[in-house]
Amino acid sequence: MTRIVIAGAAGRMGQALIRCSMAMPDVELAGVVERTGHEWLGRDAGEIVGSDIRTGVALTDELGPVLSQADVLIDFTYHSVVPRNAQLAARLKRAVVIGTTGLTTEESMDVDKAAGQVPVVWAPNMSLGVNLLFAMAKRAAAVLGSGYEVRIDETHHVHKLDAPSGTALRLGEKAADGAGVRFEDVYLHDEGGVMASYPAGRIVIRSHREGEVFGDHTVAFDGAAERVELSHHVKSRDALALGALHAAKWVCSQRPRLYDMQDVLGLRDV
Ligand code: NAD
Repeated sequence: MTRIVIAGAAGRMGQALIRCSMAMPDVELAGVVERTGHEWLGRDAGEIVGSDIRTGVALTDELGPVLSQADVLIDFTYHSVVPRNAQLAARLKRAVVIGTTGLTTEESMDVDKAAGQVPVVWAPNMSLGVNLLFAMAKRAAAVLGSGYEVRIDETHHVHKLDAPSGTALRLGEKAADGAGVRFEDVYLHDEGGVMASYPAGRIVIRSHREGEVFGDHTVAFDGAAERVELSHHVKSRDALALGALHAAKWVCSQRPRLYDMQDVLGLRDV
C-alpha cells in the first residue's frame, strides 16, 4: 500500500489524482493539500471531486502533518511552491513526485538539492504512453537512419498559448538523439503546417490548434519506399494522473536521486 499526499488537490490535475487514487486498491489517500485561503479547505476529498464516497481526508493547508503520515508527496501546484514542498519532504524523509512545470533555474536547483536526500521523480509529462513514445522515437530514428525524413505533428486545444508543445520538442530531441545529430542543427518549426516543402534532413514539427483536443502527437519517419508512424492520443487528464500515481508507487522504493519517467518505466537505455 502506498500512502500519498496530493498538493494542489483542488486543481485540475489534483482532482484527477484524487479520482484515480480513490479507484486504486493499492493506493491510500493520506492527505490533500491546498493553498492557504482556498475556499474548499475542510471539505472531504470525495466531495471535492463530486463523489458520494467520503474518504475521511479533509482538504488542509498544512502539508507537514499529513506528509509525516504518508510515504510520498505528489506535487501539481505552482512553480514557486515546489521548492518549499520538496524541502519539507526532504526534511521528513518522504519521496516526491513533481509534475509541476515552469520552474526557474533557482527553483530547479532546490529540487536537485532535495533529490540528494530523498528520491524524486520530476517529469513535465507523466503520461505512460508519451514516455513510451519518446523511447520509441529514439529507437526508430536509430534503426531507420538518414534515409527517412522525420515529421512530428502536434495538435492541442485552441487555448494553448505556446507552440510547439514541450512534448513535440522532446520527441524531436529523442529522434535527433537516435539519429546521432544535434537537434538544434536540424529542427524546423512549421506553425500551422503551412509550408509547401522542407529542406532535406530536417526534423520538422508542425503545430495545429483545434477545438478542445487534450494533446495528440504523431512522429512519422518518411522514406522513399515506406513510412512509419508512431502516434499518441490523450483521451483525458487521467492519463497524466495515472502516470503520476504509477511514479508514486515506484519512487518509494528508490534511493535518493532525481529521476524522470524514463527511469520509472525502465526506458533509460532503450
Ligand atoms: P491548476 O491551476 O488547476 O492547479 C494548481 C493548484 O495548486 C490550484 O488549485 C492552486 O490553488 C494550488 N496551489 C497553489 N499554491 C499552493 C500551495 N502553496 N499549496 C498547495 N496547493 C497550492 O493547474 P493544473 O492544470 O492542475 O496544473 C498544475 C501544474 O502541473 C502546472 O504547473 C502544470 O503545468 C503542471 N502539469 C503537469 C503535467 C505533467 O504530466 N507533468 C500535466 C498537467 C499539468
